[in-house]
Amino acid sequence: MTKYVYTFGGKTAEGNASMKNELGGKGANLAEMCLLKLPVPAGLTITTECCTDYYKNNCQLPKGLMDEVHAGIKKMEKIMGMKYGDPENPLLVSCRSGARKSMPGMMDTVLNIGLCSKTIPGLIKKTGGNERFVYDSYRRLIMMYADVVMEKAEGIEPADGQGIRKQLDDMLDAYKEKKGYKSDTELTADNLKKLAESFKARIKKVLRTEFPDDAEAQLEGGIKAVFKSWNGKKAVAYRRIEGIPDDWGTAVNVQTMVFGNMGDTSATGVAFTRNPATGDNQFYGEWLINAQGEDVVAGIRTPNPLNDETKNEQNKHMPSMQKLMPETYKELCEVRRILEDNYHDMLDIEFTIQDGKLYMLQCRVGKRTGVAALTMALDMLKEGRIDEKEVVMRLSPEQLDELLHPILDSTDEKKHTVIAKGLPAGPGGAVGRIALTSEKAKEYRSAKIANVLVREETNPEDVEGMRAADGILTARGGMTSHAALVARGWGKCCIVGCDAVKIDFAKKIVHIGDKQFKEGDVISLNGAKGWVYAEPVGMINATENPLFKKFMKLVDKYRKMGVRTNADNPEDAQNAINFGAEGIGLFRIEHMFYGKNSEKPLAKLRNMILTDNTKDRKAALKELEPYIRKAAKGTLKVLDGKPLTFRLMDPPLHEFVPKLEEKDKIKALAAERGMSQKELVKRISALHEVNPMMGLRGVRLGIVYPEITETQFRALFQATAELMTEGFDPHLEIMVPLTINVKELEHQKAIADRVQAEIEKKFGVKINYMYGTMIEIPRATLVADQIASVAQFFSFGTNDLTQMTFGFSRDDVNAIVKDYTDEKIIPADPFNTLDQEGVGQLVKLGVERGRSQRANLKCGVCGEHGGDPASVRFFYKAGLNYVSCSPFRVPVARLAAAQAAIEEERAK
Ligand code: PEP
Ligand code: MG
Repeated sequence: MTKYVYTFGGKTAEGNASMKNELGGKGANLAEMCLLKLPVPAGLTITTECCTDYYKNNCQLPKGLMDEVHAGIKKMEKIMGMKYGDPENPLLVSCRSGARKSMPGMMDTVLNIGLCSKTIPGLIKKTGGNERFVYDSYRRLIMMYADVVMEKAEGIEPADGQGIRKQLDDMLDAYKEKKGYKSDTELTADNLKKLAESFKARIKKVLRTEFPDDAEAQLEGGIKAVFKSWNGKKAVAYRRIEGIPDDWGTAVNVQTMVFGNMGDTSATGVAFTRNPATGDNQFYGEWLINAQGEDVVAGIRTPNPLNDETKNEQNKHMPSMQKLMPETYKELCEVRRILEDNYHDMLDIEFTIQDGKLYMLQCRVGKRTGVAALTMALDMLKEGRIDEKEVVMRLSPEQLDELLHPILDSTDEKKHTVIAKGLPAGPGGAVGRIALTSEKAKEYRSAKIANVLVREETNPEDVEGMRAADGILTARGGMTSHAALVARGWGKCCIVGCDAVKIDFAKKIVHIGDKQFKEGDVISLNGAKGWVYAEPVGMINATENPLFKKFMKLVDKYRKMGVRTNADNPEDAQNAINFGAEGIGLFRIEHMFYGKNSEKPLAKLRNMILTDNTKDRKAALKELEPYIRKAAKGTLKVLDGKPLTFRLMDPPLHEFVPKLEEKDKIKALAAERGMSQKELVKRISALHEVNPMMGLRGVRLGIVYPEITETQFRALFQATAELMTEGFDPHLEIMVPLTINVKELEHQKAIADRVQAEIEKKFGVKINYMYGTMIEIPRATLVADQIASVAQFFSFGTNDLTQMTFGFSRDDVNAIVKDYTDEKIIPADPFNTLDQEGVGQLVKLGVERGRSQRANLKCGVCGEHGGDPASVRFFYKAGLNYVSCSPFRVPVARLAAAQAAIEEERAK
């Protein structure tokens, strides 16, 4: 029979930290903490497999599960010395989710399960007559249970603002107002008792069922509701963003309740063993006296600091745990040491102090910003906790990318006034329009408008809006609130707990300090400091961090595959070299006809395109040649000693002449060229192709008009010869685009040989260059062995290879790809991340066949996939010598390549 339940507690456990797939992260780590002899309230974990079976089984718990749960509860009762559902000495439990990968706040939890009319008196007696505590726990159970089990899990979708939780919250607020209370703590036992009764009446009225007054029914309801929450809206949305598979399922942890809300010797808190925002080696956390865990993460009360060292703007006046509970604080510091010694990583922990006794409720490897990940990894190397390879593995390519993201320019920042301060929860800077709802943030994102999501409090329902925003600003919440965790995980600029923010939703305005803003007004955030500005502030790059340089040195030490860049001008080339590019893998000459300074060469190109005879074409090309030479020479000079792969021209020609419907442009061009409009229209029509992507492009252009190829070779060889005579060291590689067979290469090579001899003679130098081809048409991969008899290198053009393999037009397919990915017909956009299963096979085949002909064939990739970490890993495994990507992706590609090499070694 399948084992669905694993127990833990009493300093022993059936599971351990390596069982995340079966027990979820929370369950596996609770078991591990028991094995480390840390104080963990006894509990049991229902496996993720049970969740999958529950869904397979039409949302029915598998047979025999509850028997296993009861047997587990027996064990818990023994360890804790209490009994579930017992009138004298009742044990209460919590039901919490726990997936393999943490999904903070995205699934549901129910606390205080087991409180009912039968057990209430026993608990009051046991707590020395603490009626207030018991009824406070009871009203919390009712509120959570009604929301999670009776409404959400039942699939009820109330109108906005009509949810049962909201209704009960409103009742609580109204009651407090009637009594003139400011805070929950003023509510007496009697008040809470009355509230519980009116809550139950409201639930019956709204949901048409009774709140269950039975410990057993509550337990089963709680377990089912956690399973159900795996498919709740926000969990599904979060999985989509994070790429977590739907069939993983969540585990359920049923654990003995311990109470942080039993009075002033009780407390609850969350902490990080190191600072998750900066990476500093300081114990960082927040806690609340006389509270339950949800109060800290929901951001309802501003929490106290854990110690004096880490006080901040918001809590500097509040007493720390170090001061108020020094003994327990010391004990917690010891827990911190044991955990870091065991996991060799920064952990995020949750704890509760019940009447002076410390209990650990959770530990997991903590989410952190890119800066923090970098700092911690290098610190832990120094501390001897991890080795260099592990340092390289500790930063995800996304986190590294985050380091490359802009921050506010501190010089410009000084010119502006800080209008409000909050907690620095997520890194970097953000400048954008205020969005007051997730919907608005998404709307801005689709329109590519930078935006800052400004919200009252941190709410996991907002996950999609948070994703769409460039920055997040909330009025309430602490550093460990859900918004902060999620934003930090994404490396998103985020400020929480900024109490100067007051939102008026009805009027769509927000006050920040004494300033008033409308939705759509621009503000700036400094996520590292928690500062808000009323105007746009300039932004700069963060790569000057010396730790970044140190880290990248280690990356390069373990990297085996080369990283080049796609660049076609000296500035981009220099930028990429600064980012660590080892050469240019793709120089697209046609880019000289776009953008600034393109007018003159573009006019020459048009002359070349619009002539209808070879003589005029040659004359036009002669005028164009110096421009090509200048462009190539300028960049070859910057590269001095590093290879530059020049791709022969690959433009669909019609892109460079006006469209037939652009009458004004035609008129102007005809006048400029001294030809009649009629004649020009005739020529443009002749150039028209139904399917230009499959038309007169790439090498076809050079076969049809060999003079175009000749001009380029002449420009390139002359640029090389000139640089050599000037004392530079040009490493030229020339590649032919869109090749389908070896004959094309031979045809073009004959031209190259002739021109090379001519230039060598003229300059009295010997030019060394490599002659190769792009592989971007499926046919080329199939005949790669023949092609390699002439080509000295291959560069896979995976943009076109994807286009031609899928039959998806690169330029028109976006809407289709969106539907295909939404419907899960394909897992991801194949133009973003390589389709390893299909296009990947062609890459592998091309490499194998090519090298069967020429063993030392150099292979690289220059499609957009060269900067995508998952694709880079694949290219490494496929045996490519290098990847080439845009300058800003170079560090990310270097890291992905190094990680692929380390992973390969570890797998051996
Ligand atoms: C490619 O097709 O992958 C490529 C790099 O060439 P281009 O994008 O210029 O067609
Ligand atoms: Mg291409």
